[in-house]
Amino acid sequence: MARIGFYPGSFDPVTFGHLDIIARAARIVDKLVIGVGVHAGKQALLSAAERISLIELVTQPIADHSGLTISVISFDDLAVAAARRSGAQVIIRGLRDASDFDYEVQMAQMNGSLSPEIETVFMAASPATRMIASSLVKQIARMGGDTSLFLPHEVETALRGAMARRSP
Ligand code: ADP
Repeated sequence: MARIGFYPGSFDPVTFGHLDIIARAARIVDKLVIGVGVHAGKQALLSAAERISLIELVTQPIADHSGLTISVISFDDLAVAAARRSGAQVIIRGLRDASDFDYEVQMAQMNGSLSPEIETVFMAASPATRMIASSLVKQIARMGGDTSLFLPHEVETALRGAMARRSP
């Protein structure tokens, strides 16, 4: 039976940190469904459609190289519900630091209560990408800083475009 993983997140925007987790997930699952969360309370810079097409674009080399089947969807309900719809046995999350840990463990336990058949698997962030957070990357971009260490080129371009559209 093919193992299916569900990797939920905001991906606003997708970074080299997310890509590191996605590439390493190829060692655990045969298929990875990446879920772009769209929730009323969470204001995103990039639209769901932009986030999905950027993820599809920048994960293609990982799929080509590893044989991992990748699909990208959006969801506006519980991650466990979206994971179940995707046929996933595991939810994959990345852990950067202690604050990620506290929040993620609590969420995994609540998700485990809601859907005991789905296991959450944590992957420790790689040292080279551990410091990357989408929110900080957006701040750097807003202030005209270099984001090329954190984002694929196509994502940098899309981010600049979205910021230009937003600015008066
Ligand atoms: P969310 O709003 O769900 O936290 P994010 O897009 O910020 O959405 O993150 C999605 C997942 O990717 C989370 O599990 C997060 O911990 C993980 N992640 C984000 N950045 C990194 C990184 N630099 N290294 C490893 N994991 C990361």
